[in-house]
Amino acid sequence: MLFHGHLLVGMLVFLLTYNFFDDIFTGGNIFVIFLLVLLGSLLPDIDEKGTTINKWFGFIGIIFQKLFKHRGFLHSLIFFLIISFLVKIIFSDAYGYALLLGLFAHILGDGISKMGVRLFYPLKFRIKGPLRVGSFAEVLISFFIFCVIVLLLFFL
Ligand SMILES: [Zn+2]
Repeated sequence: MLFHGHLLVGMLVFLLTYNFFDDIFTGGNIFVIFLLVLLGSLLPDIDEKGTTINKWFGFIGIIFQKLFKHRGFLHSLIFFLIISFLVKIIFSDAYGYALLLGLFAHILGDGISKMGVRLFYPLKFRIKGPLRVGSFAEVLISFFIFCVIVLLLFFL
């Protein structure tokens, strides 16, 4: 999925969690939590040249993109757990969970693409779906998610 798609999935996951499982966010600032979920939903793509998140990180982005193969380690459960655990012990449980949630939202987006994603990297197993990245179908799905978000904002 592209930037906007990932961002929308991140928002949807945040809204659903915030409304139904908000216990995990206890003690955290909800605005920071929201930003962390969004950051998580974009962060794995720092491993690809030209992505928005890669550009945002500037020099650090270049290092990450040279160091890691696209949809490799930075799209893996091992990375997700390490970085979320670090945030959890440095900041708080709520922030660690928020980042982890965002990272999984990213996998939802990539997992429906044809290229798929190796969540259990270094294992070869791929989670994949029928969607071509940047296709019209992706735009439709993104629009659908957008509508769901708007509905949730009205009714929750
Ligand atoms: Zn990705």
